[in-house]
Amino acid sequence: MNHLLIDFDSTIPNLALMRISAWAKARGDKVFLNSANATPDEIWLSAIFTWHKAKALNSIEMYKSQFPHAKIHYGGTAFDWGRVNRIQLPPEIEATEPDYELYNDDRAVGFCQRGCDRKCQFCDVWRKEGRIANNKYRRLRDWVPNGFSKVLLLDNDLALAEEWKHDQVLNDAKEMGIKLSITQGYDIRCITKERAQLLAENKPWDTSFRARMLYFSWDYPQIEPWVRRGIEILEDAGFTGRQLTCYTLIGYSTTHEQDLHRIDVLWNDYGVYPYVMAYNNDKSDPWTKALVRWVNKRWLFKSIPFNEYSRNPLRELPEPDVKLDTFNIGGRVI
Ligand code: SF4
Repeated sequence: MNHLLIDFDSTIPNLALMRISAWAKARGDKVFLNSANATPDEIWLSAIFTWHKAKALNSIEMYKSQFPHAKIHYGGTAFDWGRVNRIQLPPEIEATEPDYELYNDDRAVGFCQRGCDRKCQFCDVWRKEGRIANNKYRRLRDWVPNGFSKVLLLDNDLALAEEWKHDQVLNDAKEMGIKLSITQGYDIRCITKERAQLLAENKPWDTSFRARMLYFSWDYPQIEPWVRRGIEILEDAGFTGRQLTCYTLIGYSTTHEQDLHRIDVLWNDYGVYPYVMAYNNDKSDPWTKALVRWVNKRWLFKSIPFNEYSRNPLRELPEPDVKLDTFNIGGRVI
């Protein structure tokens, strides 16, 4: 049997597709990833981001007409956002360890524990995965394959896990000599001096493992005191502002003034890079589009004030000839 796996939009190796690949190969089947030359018996479509919903649904029809005899499976938030019955992998595939050869990537990917105990309305995690305690916990040492020293942790709210689990994840990473990337961000409202110390002992990495980086988010303007307190505790523990990146949601329930204020506080008060995320990736509003471009292109952000840039955001500016960091954010669904 031939299996065609289609990865629409993953920014990191797709865990579900890697499990499907391992399961299929264990049956003696052949697996093709995003191939235009395969003749599939089964097709597996994965799309994560809600703004790809229309494209993802159209692709089902396209593959049906192209391969009328193939069995088509699909999953990911782009397909099941808003549905009561969410799409799950069959249990035997969910229980299969991922096939890392699929992406030929040296980063292990997985969860110690899924779920989240908060209920942010713009987010799908709590609807899809429920509370943290309702999900199985696995230690890093139980799922990180031998020989892997880089781990992309997908837990959505490690900071809200029980204290002993939170500490165990970070201590296991240190003891195993693992570089950990907390891809979905660390809930800065939950930071304490003890936690900051533990994080600083084996500082997390960005998703490409080029630099030490702790991601966190500031979605609600009202939590400013917690954000300030959290950054200050982290800096006291040894983090520099440059080792922190703040996902900053705009276009959901905030005003332009509140958006600019958060960016101003992060950068000018603490030297922390904001990473602006437009709600549902909707940049139809020119101001939103300009802000996303200005903030997320670091060289623009550093070289020109927003009020100057936003007057003529489409004009060409010379790019710097030095290589600046790029940011490959995780899969947090907004
Ligand atoms: S945005 Fe983060 S804290 Fe809020 S529900 Fe989603 S995972 Fe939880």
